[in-house]
Amino acid sequence: MKPPRDPDLELRGKLVRSLGSLREMLPGSFVERKRACGRPNCHCADGKRLHSQFQISVLIDGKPKALNIPADWAETVREKIEMRRRFDTAAATICGLNLKRFLKEKEERQV
Ligand SMILES: [Zn+2]
Repeated sequence: MKPPRDPDLELRGKLVRSLGSLREMLPGSFVERKRACGRPNCHCADGKRLHSQFQISVLIDGKPKALNIPADWAETVREKIEMRRRFDTAAATICGLNLKRFLKEKEERQV
């Protein structure tokens, strides 16, 4: 006989299996800044069509650093930082499910 379905365990299993796809995650936050380059003939001189400058803010050896990211790499790096957010969300959900199970078991032990 199959054990009864437990939606919490199914969700936990699904989340745990999804973590492998987040293995390239990076810490920090991704920042896109708009700036003028200063060349008078550039399109950015109108103050509207500014250049995008990409950076990540990250702690390195405990110190905050802002690292410039070339435009052709920006989307990849942005996704890696987004993976960290999804990892944290999944971890919080897993902990929440486990806490619920723990509290239930604790109650049962005290009967
Ligand atoms: Zn410019």
